[in-house]
Amino acid sequence: MREARCGCGALTVETPDDPKLVIQCHCTDCQRRTGAPFGVGAYFDRNDVHATGKSTAFARTGDAGRTLENHFCPVCGTTVFWFVEFNPDFVGVAAGCFNDPAFPAPNRSVFERSKVKWVTVPEGVACFDATSV
Ligand SMILES: [Zn+2]
Ligand SMILES: [Zn+2]
Repeated sequence: MREARCGCGALTVETPDDPKLVIQCHCTDCQRRTGAPFGVGAYFDRNDVHATGKSTAFARTGDAGRTLENHFCPVCGTTVFWFVEFNPDFVGVAAGCFNDPAFPAPNRSVFERSKVKWVTVPEGVACFDATSV
């Protein structure tokens, strides 16, 4: 098992060791959500992921026009996990919230059309101008 948590520790998520998919996303919403040039989401089967603690939901329409529901800690504001319309069986967990230097590398890099120029993507990652699904 792995554990992801928010900045203050009030919201935690337990997941299996291996994500089904890891996506590095350069979309404008991930840039705003993280305050960083890109977000990295680890996707797991929804039934395998268990959240503990209160979360506040914020639904938005992504750059591909589909709904995404972010869940963030109401105390510290860290977004820890989210649900995506493109795959209702999946839950995305913010990869950085695991604090694991050995965390699996991304399988895909998406929305490269808004990628910050100096960001480099690991070799061998499948790259997409917009969405991959
Ligand atoms: Zn928190
Ligand atoms: Zn994104």
